[in-house]
Amino acid sequence: QKKDIKKVEDYLWEVPKSFREDMLVPARILAFEHMLDDILKDRSLNQLINVATLPGIKVASFVMPDVHEGYGFPIGGVAATQYPDGVISPGGIGYDINCGVRLLVSELQIEQIKDKVEVLSKEMYHQIPSGMGKGGQIKLSIEEIDKVLTQGAEWAVARGYGLQEDLEYIESNGKLDDADSAFVSDMAKKRGADQLGTIGSGNHFVEVDYIEEIYDEAIAKVYGLYKGQVVVLIHTGSRGLGHQVATDYIRTMINAMPKYNIKLPDRELACVPFNSEEGQQYFKAMCAAANFAWCNREVISWEVRTAWGNIFRKEKKPLKLLYDVAHNIAKIETHRIKGKDRKVIVHRKGATRAFGPGFKELPNRYSDVGQPVIIPGSMGTCSYILAGASSENITFGSCCHGAGRRLSRTAAKRQVNAPVLKEALREKGIFVEAGSFRGIAEEAPIAYKDVNMVVETVSASGIAKKVAKLKPVAVVKG
Ligand code: 5GP
Ligand code: MN
Ligand code: MN
Repeated sequence: QKKDIKKVEDYLWEVPKSFREDMLVPARILAFEHMLDDILKDRSLNQLINVATLPGIKVASFVMPDVHEGYGFPIGGVAATQYPDGVISPGGIGYDINCGVRLLVSELQIEQIKDKVEVLSKEMYHQIPSGMGKGGQIKLSIEEIDKVLTQGAEWAVARGYGLQEDLEYIESNGKLDDADSAFVSDMAKKRGADQLGTIGSGNHFVEVDYIEEIYDEAIAKVYGLYKGQVVVLIHTGSRGLGHQVATDYIRTMINAMPKYNIKLPDRELACVPFNSEEGQQYFKAMCAAANFAWCNREVISWEVRTAWGNIFRKEKKPLKLLYDVAHNIAKIETHRIKGKDRKVIVHRKGATRAFGPGFKELPNRYSDVGQPVIIPGSMGTCSYILAGASSENITFGSCCHGAGRRLSRTAAKRQVNAPVLKEALREKGIFVEAGSFRGIAEEAPIAYKDVNMVVETVSASGIAKKVAKLKPVAVVKG
């Protein structure tokens, strides 16, 4: 309840550790006051408090302003646990392991392509397999899947489905070395066998946008962004493969927990010590699924580039990758806690890494300005590009990942007439191609919070800086 939440700053609220006996750290909410009512409508605050009880949790449990209820952990949540004996929890990462976004940039202006947007959207819909459970062109044998799980985005580049120069601009270069495909079940591999290069259902999309506004000229210049420029946003993850890895290990952990004497307020928080046998197996499988997701977004970029090339035949310049960020993942990182550098296991679930200037892992080009942080809004409103800033000091190097759901899928379906919405968007100059009207209704702009307010919050907090605002013109929906 609101009376239990204390104001720390205009944009930061806290439920103190004393609120509940089992809390090990406080629970913190990044939001402006008027956003709290929406946040209190579902179970997300209760879930955030539950997260604050996880063995080994450091500093606080966090939610970003795009928070909403999820499996165990809230979506928009961040939790860092002590390395190596704190817990790792699949619910803190999500079923869609390494769901994430990337942005491709073109050298065309929106005015130059206005009359081609509709054919482009149709060609993209043709090139990019979409829809729940939908398979793609590439059929992988189990041996080949093992390579994808080990090599990540490199696999796509080696097979001619990607560009070498992309790799530098993917978080972790599109490959986690801790991946071990031996801990990914055959069932998971079977589910992924024909899903490389597919976007999947509903919330996933490929979208053509243009830059409507630049907020920070200096950073935009480093990123190579300018007003009117056409760009492509890609949002998807590890498909059925990652989902199966999560399912498998949640079951394993529920069974293993008594052995480690872990008691939790909600069984959906299932977790084990990171350095236990089950913890290590899950971590290695999660890294493998993350590699699959990076490879997937690389192959989808190739499909987008193919569609682009088919429509703009005279354009010789390929679409360049600005950056690719994960928003459902756990990473081992070093952060400063009470003046000391400490290794922690950072769970980000519906939260994007947002490293500021000088952080080791960033590509050279971005090391003075911080990494690009990509925040999709909705197919009818707008999206943002931010630059990571002081997030290390506040949220373990993390930022929000979107606008965040306001309505459940069921509620959205009840309220939205999809054919009418599709036509209304078309009149606004946004062409939507989707496998089903259901997908359009579930993803209607009113199903999401106001992305402008979400972005204002993170920008006020200093964790990231506004760089550019994107407007959609064509969307391929799962
Ligand atoms: P999630 O990963 O939680 O499914 O979604 C991330 C964010 O993507 C959502 O919070 C929402 O703000 C945004 N989003 C969902 N559909 C679309 C879309 O079609 N276009 C854009 N630009 N953003 C979307
Ligand atoms: Mn996803
Ligand atoms: Mn996602």
